[in-house]
Amino acid sequence: MKIIYFDNNATTPIAPEVLEEMLPYLEKFYGNPSSMHTFGGHLHKKIEEARAKVAALINADPEEIIFTSCGTESDNTAIMSIIESYPQKRHVITTRVEHPAVLNFCKHLARKGWRVSYIPVDRLGRIDMDTFLKTIDDDTAIVSIMYANNETGVIFPIEEIGNILRQRKIPFHTDAVQAVGKIPIDVKKLPVDMLSMSGHKIHAPKGVAALYVRKGTRFYPYIIGGHQERGRRAGTENVASIIGFGKACELALKHLDTESGYIAKLRDKLENSLLNLCPDCQVNGDQENRIPNTTNISFKYVEGESILLRLDDHGICASSGSACTSGSLEPSHVLRAMGVPYTAIHGSIRFSLSRYNTEEEVDTVIKLMPSIIKELRFLSPFGKV
Ligand code: PLP
Repeated sequence: MKIIYFDNNATTPIAPEVLEEMLPYLEKFYGNPSSMHTFGGHLHKKIEEARAKVAALINADPEEIIFTSCGTESDNTAIMSIIESYPQKRHVITTRVEHPAVLNFCKHLARKGWRVSYIPVDRLGRIDMDTFLKTIDDDTAIVSIMYANNETGVIFPIEEIGNILRQRKIPFHTDAVQAVGKIPIDVKKLPVDMLSMSGHKIHAPKGVAALYVRKGTRFYPYIIGGHQERGRRAGTENVASIIGFGKACELALKHLDTESGYIAKLRDKLENSLLNLCPDCQVNGDQENRIPNTTNISFKYVEGESILLRLDDHGICASSGSACTSGSLEPSHVLRAMGVPYTAIHGSIRFSLSRYNTEEEVDTVIKLMPSIIKELRFLSPFGKV
């Protein structure tokens, strides 16, 4: 069966150009980039080339890029680094809708005695700026606020927040894992001190990511050991994946303008058609201010998992707003924070697109969904047909 993949916020397929660039470094060039011999030294050069490409995507300087193993590591490193660097400050600010990579790390800090403030969002998933302003105090060590939400695609006002924090001289980290490569980001203009990105969200392999650290920002390594990454992240480099990540960033930068328009057009067709054809559904999140590839739609009075299973029967991959973990249905913390009613959260589906989706694939979903929803509502314990 042909796979129709609309789950690109979970992970993306590796771009063929990326794979091609990586393969020699999985086969022939297996040396250690730290070795003195030419065989290894060549790899060091390739890593630096990749670093320059990753930096270019966000207009950073290559020395400001640290390679890590995943977006989660970048997020943890950023927060921990500041906390270690400012031990006298005991307050951390984040939002209620962060990815678990930030949220659960902050909960961990709270258990260890830090004071953590979770800024609420409104019905459209927009940050409550009044509460944010009131929450900042002299004890605030770091603010970590995501650039774009992984479930709804909603973009936060990172520039405005960064300007406020600059005036207060408070370090600012943004988790831009879902924004990088999808919208233009220029750290020369953006007032952030650290920014997380992740390879597998932009057609590079899993297991490679980066943390941007602005020159002059205090930094304390999270993984301590060898001298790799100038002592800022120890461990022998994931050479092939770093090279692939560099290529993926190069492709993203080259095609950003044309691709985002193409993807947004497909996303909008999908969204508008489903809203028109399926009664009792709504889009979750601020439609005006979203990354171009994401739509989160609640089909009320249906279980998201049932919709996913029906779509899966046709080879269609998407995500639901409730994660089925250890047999228990956990409704999305993002949609809950937005105040989306329970019946709508349970029927929420996230479609996230990429450059590899086609209009034909969108049309297939548009054709199938109305009958799937109708049938499931008929069977639904919520009793609405
Ligand atoms: N932050 C956001 C917003 C994400 O969407 C994800 C992954 O879904 C992560 C962090 C974690 O990235 P990784 O899977 O590379 O650890």
